Amino acid sequence: MAISFDRSFDAPYERPVRASPRIRRMLAHNPSPFTFRGTSVAIVGEGNVAVIDPGPDDPEHLAALRAALAGETVTHILVTHTHRDHSPAARALKEWTGAPAYGFGPHGRGKTDYGISVEEGGDRDFVPDIAVRDGDIIAGAGFTLECVHTPGHTSNHMCYALCEEKALFTGDHVMGWSTSVVAPPDGDMADYMESLKKLIARDDAIYWPTHGGAVRDPQTLAAATLAHRLDREAQIVSALRDGVSAIPEIVSRIYVGLDPRLKPAAGLSVFAHLVKLTREGRAVARGNPGLGAAYSAAS
Ligand SMILES: [Zn+2]
Repeated sequence: MAISFDRSFDAPYERPVRASPRIRRMLAHNPSPFTFRGTSVAIVGEGNVAVIDPGPDDPEHLAALRAALAGETVTHILVTHTHRDHSPAARALKEWTGAPAYGFGPHGRGKTDYGISVEEGGDRDFVPDIAVRDGDIIAGAGFTLECVHTPGHTSNHMCYALCEEKALFTGDHVMGWSTSVVAPPDGDMADYMESLKKLIARDDAIYWPTHGGAVRDPQTLAAATLAHRLDREAQIVSALRDGVSAIPEIVSRIYVGLDPRLKPAAGLSVFAHLVKLTREGRAVARGNPGLGAAYSAAS
């Protein structure tokens, strides 16, 4: 099953745009191969609002965010996860508004590091004032947000459902424009697949990912994403069976026509699959499992 990506999304930078009766979105000016057009900050409610994923710590963006929120009372700051394109602006926003920040927890620690010492993109400064768990309800003025823990992209990834609109803010978990990066040490492919199943079992009517446009056929996309990961897993197992044992060679074999800038990320994604396969006893690492190890199929 192929995923049909929608890359048609466009919006003005740093200006709030009405997305639904209760949602406005403002696109931060931080386009990249990982952020697509940039981070879409969500403003939920009117008058008393929640801000989801306030975005990067960038002066232009912070000034625009402040202007966009003039006349509003920010009652909640929600963070889907601690990557630098999502959470750092929470600090300034807290200073201006005094609103508490909600999130699962600080950036993941204490996981096997597999010799990957530096994980770029992690915001290690963010600490939620209120640590939320799966199923927690955050009640605002005219909106109700349900926390849906979806580890995988990061261990602290949280989606938020806007109950009044059957809408799910999916962060980077499921996006319409691209697959998500699942990279050890903090990213975990087994968790990621379980978190996809969690979304498939829900009945959300629409997804609002932090990057790209709305997803209006959400369970189909979540199911296609899971099928795609299972396909990749099968491709990796078949590469191992053919004696392809090094991660860069597996990447060249299975990622055809990949943007060269995304090759390191693809290597981490293959590694994430290999961690899962090794744990399940379906692959074996020669030496310490890591990016540089040689792998073979378990016999
Ligand atoms: Zn992210």
